[in-house]
Amino acid sequence: MSSLLNIVKQSFGLGAVAVSGGVHPPDHKHESTTQAVGQLPLPHQLTLPLRQHVGNLPKVLVKVGDYVLKGQLLAEAEGNISAAIHAPSSGTITSIEDALIPHPSGLPDRCITIALDGKDEWIAHAPIDWRKLETEQDKSKLLEGLRSSGIVGLGGAAFPTQVKLRTNAKSSVDTLVLNAAECEPYITCDDMLMRERADQILKGLEIAQHLLGAKQCLIGIEDNKPEAAEAMRHACANSPLSKLVPLKVVVVPTQYPSGDARQLIRLLTGIEVPADKRSTDVGLQCFNVATVLALHRYFDFGEPSISRIVTITGNVQKPANYEVLFGTSVADLVQAGGGALADTDGYIMGGPMMGFNLPSVSVPITKASNCVIASAPNLFPSAPPAMPCIRCARCADVCPVSLQPQELYWFAKSSNLEKARDYNLFDCIECGCCTYACPSNIPLVQYYRFAKSEIIAQDRAKEAADLARERNEFRLMRIDREKQERAEKHAQKAAGAKAEAAKTEATSATEAPEDEAMAAKKAAIAAAIERAKAQKAAAAPQNVVDAIPSVQAEIAEIDARREAAKQSVTDAIATNDAQEEK
Ligand code: SF4
Ligand code: SF4
Repeated sequence: MSSLLNIVKQSFGLGAVAVSGGVHPPDHKHESTTQAVGQLPLPHQLTLPLRQHVGNLPKVLVKVGDYVLKGQLLAEAEGNISAAIHAPSSGTITSIEDALIPHPSGLPDRCITIALDGKDEWIAHAPIDWRKLETEQDKSKLLEGLRSSGIVGLGGAAFPTQVKLRTNAKSSVDTLVLNAAECEPYITCDDMLMRERADQILKGLEIAQHLLGAKQCLIGIEDNKPEAAEAMRHACANSPLSKLVPLKVVVVPTQYPSGDARQLIRLLTGIEVPADKRSTDVGLQCFNVATVLALHRYFDFGEPSISRIVTITGNVQKPANYEVLFGTSVADLVQAGGGALADTDGYIMGGPMMGFNLPSVSVPITKASNCVIASAPNLFPSAPPAMPCIRCARCADVCPVSLQPQELYWFAKSSNLEKARDYNLFDCIECGCCTYACPSNIPLVQYYRFAKSEIIAQDRAKEAADLARERNEFRLMRIDREKQERAEKHAQKAAGAKAEAAKTEATSATEAPEDEAMAAKKAAIAAAIERAKAQKAAAAPQNVVDAIPSVQAEIAEIDARREAAKQSVTDAIATNDAQEEK
């Protein structure tokens, strides 16, 4: 990537440049628009990076060895800004590990690999009734479902679409802009999509308009795509949307970077979206044509985002466009394009202005991959060495966001980063127009990217330091506060104890007479009980017989008489016996 733009410039020649606020390089689009969009054969395996969108990585729901069906959720969106990943075909998960991905860093990242079984068997799926939108809850439900569709901006930004469809009182959308500009040279996937599937795009646009409640829709197409513009006009005339809101195809001059959302909005409406605001802050929302078509596939068929159209062009036998399952290797796409010519020296993902060199042809196609260009010395000659800046101001003339690129270059080069920030470095959209226009071949965008990354790194380090300092201050405050609270508690406790003692003393003093009276009463009761006991003891006889002497005498007399009677009977019997013997 180091000098891709300079290389591009060598191939186009400086004579082609110069329109104010943008450039007009030869578009090289006709090579890949001579045949219809093809279907790539089912590959043997698909490698799906988890990082295919702006935002958080999704949470993996499968494990190695799992059998998955086409359209099955493999990883769910995590957090507000994230996107789900689905299986683009049926097969078995063979690995979940780091692998090379298409990224300017050239570094590997987490990927899910599926060995396909060739059956291409769908999971159960059904249309979703998007027309039912009576309450805010209905809309939230639809957008929550959309969150699991995996749809992101397919124009290259890869921002989760459901986030862009959320509106509130502060960000209501008046105008919906459909971005069909496709301004970068070589890329033709949107052009072909419009030529062949304009009616489906309109169905998706109708859904987006319905969800946003937009009052008008504008479709912006560059004038180098007359077939696409005609197809879209025809589809608009037949679309129910044209009966609901004003709907218009607007052809804009071919001028890079008119496909940048803010540039296109300015071209179509004259509204300049301030750099520190979103387009929804001024009542506008912008979607790419392929993105709204994905909305149509999701709502009208229940299909999640599993494929896209990709241009294969440059130094290949048969430049064309193909519908490609995500995870398909670039090598398979190059093969479909008839294979690379012998002098191919690398591959660019995206366009030559904003794209990047691929680290390997084995990397997969992702949601952000709109184009692969096989490069060769005759297409992109080596850049000549950079020369000193001659202060010609051509870079400023072509900057679409009215920056001073030469000043930014000086500040970035001298590491005067704060000054670069003051000169609105972060408004730079990295379109590369300044590099393209610079007669001294200075790789300006590289300086801006470096400066931005340095500032971001410094800001993060500062944030981390501030956070650590705040935490420490908070910790010290907490320790102080706890100490103070403990001291207050002790003081309160001591004061409470003192007050209690004083109260007890006071209470004892007032309660004493009562105690004495009670004690006297108790003593009187006890004495009475004792007296009663004594009386009872005195009154109670120890033995009835002992207690009554007269009765005792009587008993003794009775006993004597009984003994006398007994003796007389004994004597009588003895007398009788004696007489009988006689
Ligand atoms: S300064 Fe940034 S926005 Fe301006 S032309 Fe250069 S790359 Fe584009
Ligand atoms: S950076 Fe390049 S284009 Fe800009 S003023 Fe210097 S020489 Fe001219």
